Amino acid sequence: MDIKKSDFSEWYNTITKDAELCDLRYGIKGFVVFRPWSVITMNRMYGMYEQAVESRGHVPALFPALIPESYFMKESDHVKGFVPEVFWVTEAGGNKLEERYAMRPTSETAMYSMYSLWIHGTKDLPLKLYQRCQVWRHETKATKPFIRSREFYWIEAHDCFATREEAIAQVHEDMEMAEEVIHAQFCVPFLFFRRPQWDKFAGAEDTYAADTLMPDGRALQLPSTHMLGQHFSKAFDIKFTDEKGKDQYVWQTCYGPAISRIYAAVIATHGDDKGLVLPVRLAPMQVVIVPILKEETKQKVLERCKEVAKMISCCFFTKIDDSDRTPGFKFNEWEMKGVPIRIEIGMRDVEADVVIVVRRDTGEKIKVKTSEVDAKLDEVAQAIDKNLRERADKWFEGKVAHADSMEDLGKKLEAGHGFVRVPFCTDQMEGEKCADMVKERHSGNIRGSLFKSSDVPKDKSCIACGKPATVYEYAARQY
Ligand SMILES: [Zn+2]
Repeated sequence: MDIKKSDFSEWYNTITKDAELCDLRYGIKGFVVFRPWSVITMNRMYGMYEQAVESRGHVPALFPALIPESYFMKESDHVKGFVPEVFWVTEAGGNKLEERYAMRPTSETAMYSMYSLWIHGTKDLPLKLYQRCQVWRHETKATKPFIRSREFYWIEAHDCFATREEAIAQVHEDMEMAEEVIHAQFCVPFLFFRRPQWDKFAGAEDTYAADTLMPDGRALQLPSTHMLGQHFSKAFDIKFTDEKGKDQYVWQTCYGPAISRIYAAVIATHGDDKGLVLPVRLAPMQVVIVPILKEETKQKVLERCKEVAKMISCCFFTKIDDSDRTPGFKFNEWEMKGVPIRIEIGMRDVEADVVIVVRRDTGEKIKVKTSEVDAKLDEVAQAIDKNLRERADKWFEGKVAHADSMEDLGKKLEAGHGFVRVPFCTDQMEGEKCADMVKERHSGNIRGSLFKSSDVPKDKSCIACGKPATVYEYAARQY
């Protein structure tokens, strides 16, 4: 790579192209072709996320991509929030349709129209369904591959409960999953915020969202989970008869981890000046064996490479790169593509009965006895993921700051801090004016208050209006 990661935007555009993650030359603006090297990783991510979702009682379903306009219009806040972004199908088979169909921007209205047919009594609850699918939104902001495009890939889980308490417990469980998957397995740190009322999901009572930081200090939203309350169940007539024979509306939640965007966070969080760096469990190819060949000993070295590949291919996606290119060229290429472990084998290593194991994350070279290579690789793989997570956490922690005034907030943001904690008058609708001031002054957005926090300001004033502060909000510049 010719571009340093410190020039993040350029670096990101370059790596997504050079590592063949996507191709932007498709003929519809904002629609991106994802290539195998990204899709293999995203499929793994789907697998891990789906395991977390299913182990908590969700079952999969698949709903149609088209939503009749009449379904879509049932919940008024939802309509207002999404209509500006909807792609409509207005014609089929050469004829204009009587009713137009929305290409789902999200599936509440598709799924809940069926939920009202399926839910009758307490025996039908809780209902916890999820689907993996793509959705379409006509974004007006600048698109960037994986970060924001007009078609993206996600999981959406939509749950119904008999009580408000169960719905709230589900919101907590959704956050727990984000920690277990995105942080523990993808090694990407984030903070979970309760969004201010003016920035919640269209149709929700409350929105909670995990925000990570890009290397340029700007915030990127990863999954969000929404307490829908009974807004949708009333609009869609999703009712059950309780034990006393009384009809009740269900309590609902929905959860939307956008896999393609979380993939962007993986690239951005771990990559370096040489290119991609991937957690071992997400790498399409986990080990590349590069033979160091001389004509006269070629056969012996290649044979050893095959033996080693055989030893480890049970546990690692492995490839021997025996192409005609020079070893140096191959090293650069696979480093750029983010292969976590390289094994080098030359004739001298064959004679000494060793291999050289090289870590992508640290560049460390380790000499390992051939017979011990499989055990050693397990250890190295774990060490790599641990290092990536700790390195990312440490960087992230250093990006969080505090400010007591508008001026200080500006300084902290200019100094490269991602999240700045500020005393704020309120996160209810009346606070929106103050949030607008933050945007005007410093191009900062109020992302929310820390979800799991009893952190309440004492004797502090709102940085915008000067009224007594009731909440600590986190400000950030955002994608
Ligand atoms: Zn204020």
